[in-house]
Amino acid sequence: MTPILTIDGPSGTGKGTLMQRLAERLGWHALDSGALYRVLGLAAGRQGLDLDDPEALTPLAAALPVEFQAGRVLLSGEDVSDAIRTEEAGMAASRVAAHPGVRAALLDWQRRFARAPGLVADGRDMGTVVFPQARLKIFLDASPEIRAERRYKQLKEKGVDANLPQLVADIRERDARDRSRPVAPLCPAEDAVLVDSTQMSIAEVLDRVLEEVRR
Ligand code: C5P
Repeated sequence: MTPILTIDGPSGTGKGTLMQRLAERLGWHALDSGALYRVLGLAAGRQGLDLDDPEALTPLAAALPVEFQAGRVLLSGEDVSDAIRTEEAGMAASRVAAHPGVRAALLDWQRRFARAPGLVADGRDMGTVVFPQARLKIFLDASPEIRAERRYKQLKEKGVDANLPQLVADIRERDARDRSRPVAPLCPAEDAVLVDSTQMSIAEVLDRVLEEVRR
């Protein structure tokens, strides 16, 4: 069976960077499942669909013309890698991701990433729903304040205007929606290893997870 390592947790914990570094170190494939929900939110917005209407969103999810190519994300061939990284796109992703039909429609697409020699997958339900058979499951958490601060620094570095209290409020809102939805709520799998990165650098988190991989 293809070895799979899952990394779940709320936004801003460093899951994405950790996933990329682990995939490089291990020479495995990488799946950024959040990007999938972000593309869906973007596509739905562009088509003027109601983000709270599962009847409109589920068919779009089932036939979403998305591709991941060499670290870029394409929607109908257009590179939307930057467009999906805004706070607005994150919020739209969280809204479309709350519908059970949408999640079901994206399951097979995600599972096709599980190919030799292995897969590192990051998201909210990788260890609980999509890859319950994963060999190692990490649940990465950090306080909302530190996550907002990290995001604030990233945005400042990119020259984007940011408001720290607003970022904390957005993070709390997105967490609350992700944790309370009826399907695949954000929570650790029973057999997940919990890592709190509030006081840890990304290098320390990587070392901690590699320790688990070697076990
Ligand atoms: O991880 P990222 O911030 O890119 O995810 C954006 C949103 O997509 C999350 O807030 C969450 O609502 C949703 N998501 C999800 N399941 C996943 C990955 C992301 O519901 N596996």
